[in-house]
Amino acid sequence: MISPAETGDDDRFDRLFRPGSLDEYVGQEKHTENLKVFVQAARRRREPLDHILFCGPPGLGKTTLAHILAREMGVTLHATSGPAVEHKGALAGLLTKLEPNDVLFIDEIHRLTPAVEESLYPAIESFKIDIMTGDGPYATTIQLALKPFTLVGATTRTGLLTAPLLSRFGYVMRLDFYPVEELERIVLRSSRLLEIPIEPAGAREIAARSRGTPRVANRLLRRVRDFAEVLGDGRITASIARKTAERLEIDAGGLDEMDRRLLRVIIEHYDGGPVGIDTLAAALSEPRDTVEDVYEPFLLQQGFLGRTPRGRIATRRAYEHLGMTKPTPDQG
Ligand code: ATP
Repeated sequence: MISPAETGDDDRFDRLFRPGSLDEYVGQEKHTENLKVFVQAARRRREPLDHILFCGPPGLGKTTLAHILAREMGVTLHATSGPAVEHKGALAGLLTKLEPNDVLFIDEIHRLTPAVEESLYPAIESFKIDIMTGDGPYATTIQLALKPFTLVGATTRTGLLTAPLLSRFGYVMRLDFYPVEELERIVLRSSRLLEIPIEPAGAREIAARSRGTPRVANRLLRRVRDFAEVLGDGRITASIARKTAERLEIDAGGLDEMDRRLLRVIIEHYDGGPVGIDTLAAALSEPRDTVEDVYEPFLLQQGFLGRTPRGRIATRRAYEHLGMTKPTPDQG
C-alpha cells in the first residue's frame, strides 16, 4: 500500500511536489553541491554537462534531479525509459531531435537492449550515430553528427549495467535512503504546497514511517490528510498520523504488510533462511525484480534482512521486530 513503486495517481503528485532547483532539493547535500559546480562550470564553458548516472531504489528523487539539471542548465529535458527505446531507429529518432546541450533522460537504463545500448556508445562518446539505410544488398550505413547533449541515466540497479556503459558516465551518483529529519522537511514542504495545516510532530510521525523514501512520505501525507479531514478537523497531528498508519498497517519502523510478510516467509517457511531470491519471490507471488528493487533495499539497509551467497536470511532484528524468538543454533 505504501510501496515506493510508482502508480498513476502518484505520477500526478510526483510532478506537483517536484522541487524546481538544486537549492529546493532536500538532502543528498554532498552530491547536490557537486552538481551545482558541474552546472556552473558547464554553463560558463557553454558546453553540455558531462553524462550523469543516478542509481538507487525507486522514489528517492532520480527523475526529480534530471528535471532540475535540465532547468538549471536552461535546456529541454527529453524523457524516455530503457524498455521504451525498442530499437536503434527509435534511439536515432530521439537523438536527432535534441538541441545543443539538451538533456536526454533514460529511466531504467539497465533495460536497454544490447543493440540499442551499443548504438548509444558513439552517440555519448563523440556525438555521432550510425544509421542504416536501405535493405539487403543495398543496405549502407551513414554516420550522422548529433548536437552535443547530456545523457542522464537512472537505474535501480547499477549491478545490471554493462561495464562499457557504466564507464561512459562522467559522474555516478548513488542516492541513499533519507534520514527522518530530511523526510520531515519534505513533508512540511509538500503540506505547504497542498495547503494542509500540519503540526511538526505530525510531520515527524509521517517521516518516521516512510521507509526513508520521499515518494512514500508524500503518499502517506495524502492518506493522513484524508483521515484528518474525515476523522478530525483537517489538521495533521501526531495522533492522526499514527492512527492513519495503524489503519494502513504501517508499523512504527515504517514496515508495511508486504515487508513483514517477506520477513515472516523467511522465518516461518525457511527457518530464517538462507533462501534463494527466486524461491522467495515465488513464495510471495511477486516478480523477482519487484522484490529486489522495491522491498529488499530498505529491509537490508535497516538490518532486517541479510544477504549471503546462499540466499537471504532474516536477522535477529527481524525476529525482534516481529515479536518472535530466534532459535539458538544447536550446540550438539
Ligand atoms: P522512480 O525510480 O520510481 O522513477 P525516482 O527516484 O525517480 O523514482 P522521483 O520521481 O524523482 O523519484 O521522486 C518521487 C517524489 O519524491 C517526487 O514527488 C519528488 O518531488 C519527491 N522527492 C524526491 N526527492 C526529493 C527531495 N530530495 N526533496 C524533495 N522532494 C523530493
